[in-house]
Amino acid sequence: MRILKFGGTSVGSPENIQKVIAVVTQRAQKENVAVVVSAIGGITNKLLLAGQLAAKKDDTYRAVFEEIKDTHLTYTKVLTKSEETLTQVQRLMSDLEALLQGIFLINELSPKTIDKLTSFGERTSSVMITSAFAARDILAQHKDSRQLIITDATHTKATVYTKQTHQAIQAYFKDSKAAITILPGFIARSETGETTTLGRGGSDFTAAILAAALHADALEIWTDVSGMYSANPTLVKQAQPIAQISYHEAMELSHFGAKVLYPPTIAPVMQKNIPLYIKNTFDPEAEGTCISNQVNGRNNPIKGISHINDIALLTLEGTGMIGISGTSKRLFETLSVQAINVILITQASSEHSICLGIAKEDAQQAKEAIESTFAYEISKHQIDPVIIEKELAIIALVGERMKSHQGISGKMFSTLGKNNVNIRAIAQGASEKNISAVIASKDVAKALNSLHERFFEDQSQQINLFIMGVGNVGGRLLAQIKQQQAYLLENLKLNLRVIGMSNSRTMLFEEEGIDLATWSSALDKGEKADMVRFRESVQNLNIRNSVFVDITANEDVAMTYPHYLRNSIAVVACNKIACASAMQNYSLLKRLSKKYNAPFLFETNVGAGLPIIDTLKNLMASGDRITKIQAVLSGSLNFVFNNFASGDSFHDVVQQAKTEGYTEPDPRIDLSGVDVARKILILAREAGLELELKDVVNTPFLTKKNLESTDVPHFFETLKEDASHFEALVSEASAQGRRLKYVAQLEHNQASVGLQSVTAESPFYHLEGKDNIVLFYTERYPDQPLIIKGAGAGGDVTASGLFSDIIRLRQAP
Ligand code: ADP
Ligand code: ASP
Ligand code: MG
Repeated sequence: MRILKFGGTSVGSPENIQKVIAVVTQRAQKENVAVVVSAIGGITNKLLLAGQLAAKKDDTYRAVFEEIKDTHLTYTKVLTKSEETLTQVQRLMSDLEALLQGIFLINELSPKTIDKLTSFGERTSSVMITSAFAARDILAQHKDSRQLIITDATHTKATVYTKQTHQAIQAYFKDSKAAITILPGFIARSETGETTTLGRGGSDFTAAILAAALHADALEIWTDVSGMYSANPTLVKQAQPIAQISYHEAMELSHFGAKVLYPPTIAPVMQKNIPLYIKNTFDPEAEGTCISNQVNGRNNPIKGISHINDIALLTLEGTGMIGISGTSKRLFETLSVQAINVILITQASSEHSICLGIAKEDAQQAKEAIESTFAYEISKHQIDPVIIEKELAIIALVGERMKSHQGISGKMFSTLGKNNVNIRAIAQGASEKNISAVIASKDVAKALNSLHERFFEDQSQQINLFIMGVGNVGGRLLAQIKQQQAYLLENLKLNLRVIGMSNSRTMLFEEEGIDLATWSSALDKGEKADMVRFRESVQNLNIRNSVFVDITANEDVAMTYPHYLRNSIAVVACNKIACASAMQNYSLLKRLSKKYNAPFLFETNVGAGLPIIDTLKNLMASGDRITKIQAVLSGSLNFVFNNFASGDSFHDVVQQAKTEGYTEPDPRIDLSGVDVARKILILAREAGLELELKDVVNTPFLTKKNLESTDVPHFFETLKEDASHFEALVSEASAQGRRLKYVAQLEHNQASVGLQSVTAESPFYHLEGKDNIVLFYTERYPDQPLIIKGAGAGGDVTASGLFSDIIRLRQAP
């Protein structure tokens, strides 16, 4: 004998019911089957809603009733031509209507009435489905479970009297010859003959009771997903069905919220060692999950991750609890008398406090009851009034083999911590089958996904980018990411996604990742750009491994980094303003980055894509010490001086540099040396010095008139007026066989920038185009410096520098 159970979605449309019939007939060819069915999906909720409205004297309950009636009559007419069934369903609907009218009149909805009311769902669906079998000439018998399952009178979640129930089931099936028997799930009766129910989701339990009573060969739970998954598949896209799992593990997962199985379902089949399969009605060939004692012992020690929402944390604490025996006993007795289910317990080893996780709706009742039990101690200030915290959830890692693996809780908490998920309480069952933590409800999806990634996804990592500034460099970065996405996934197991982007006009967010083939047109249609709302959206989306990428040159944007870092969101900046701002701000960013475990990377601040800062960091980290830096760091000044020869107009060369995009929109920022000063300042700070921009000695080569120009056009005019000054600079240098280079230097803790005329022996002499060069003299490189040289400006190389910073965020597995 085999027991099959079909849930609400499986019987959720006439077409689905045909699928059910196909599965059942296939199974019934080999052995007799008992088929337990749920109410049509959504009907139980509608019945309850109608009842609640009627009890509130709200006559819109009628409309809800009409919907319920309509659904059932429509289904019946599609499924069968039997007049008898139609009359039977109509009768059920009129009984339901009468019950609702009664509730409306007396204005009351007791648990006993709730059970009567909700029973209509399964009673009607089972009648309809039985008739659908007959309509296809398949013999199937209907049996009302209320005649077989006997419970106490705890309405809405009754306790089954196992002995009587088993006897009734065995007696009935002993005499039954039917190959297929169809029974309503969820409903039962009390000893006095009242309808009771087994709790929401209880049809699974009905089927397990039948399986145990009949020593069935197997119990199959048919639902809308292909098994019990490693995490709730609606919240974790990467979740996978678990092929095999032990009874205890499955129990633990369902207890901690894996809704696919109603928790009490497992005990009856476990006692009889009956395998339980979870199968998908919509994909019957999929393997599904087998829950049994036969578990393959060599796989992942973690089987699944689950969570329960709507948790309240109750804390009882006070000096009066220390060393006083019996406090816990009184506490738990109080809760037990109130029938309050305790989901999680933690106690500090000092016994100073006990924390309990319970369902949120029980919180107030629990608080009142506990405070009444401990009224004396509270009045003497030995124990504090109970503290309740809400908006919480429990998240649990489950696996029987966890106990033989070290470091799992460490991994769990570091993963949560890295993603800024605050943990309010932790519990680990003595059996070590689960580790659970209480976290804020808002963090559930992020926590599930990051833990899933850590424990199940073959160490693949998702990095989620929020890019501000998608102009020239930003556009190239997006093109590079698009081109490399598949490669990174394949080779680095890195899933790089762009979730948000903004330019100065519009911004765009796409939780599943923006399509990088069409981002530009999608962004055009995006909402109005707003820096504060951008930040809020990043925060509210609350996605793991989030990164803010600043590709602007905007000071206001630079000022937002602390907000990101404080939320454990990494910052990758091409914008130099933050790192070149006051030392205090630079140190704050470094401190926040460390404290919140959120990298702050800005390789492109100096030398675009050249690995200058990274090299410097590696030198420092490996214990070397910088003694001197000499560098040519301005692509724009190189362009200008490489193209300026005696007899040329300096004005025209600068104009050309500007037109070709080698200078800032205001070329004075480059020509005054400010930009280079910022770069050497950043290198000096990275080398460990505490310097301000004003400490960088800047010897200008521009004239006073140039420097005092009022705006850009005026500046260009002054360049013309002072042409002789520039001519003198260049002709003097070339007369001595030298070349003009704009050099930045750091020596004896002193940074400086200025124009130098260098001889042919200088490593700077042959620097071409917009190339940059940096010479690091260190204790390990005292005479021959470590040299980094290459293109130090341009959209593509800057974008690739940003890209390298993003890849650096990948954590070591
Ligand atoms: P039925 O109506 O068939 O009894 P349920 O809605 O009670 O179905 O249970 C199936 C649902 O459980 C799935 O659609 C899924 O959304 C949810 N679920 C939660 N956690 C898990 C999990 N770990 N594995 C599979 N499904 C899960
Ligand atoms: N119909 C009931 C419910 O929705 C029982 C079940 O489907 O398992 O809770
Ligand atoms: Mg269910």
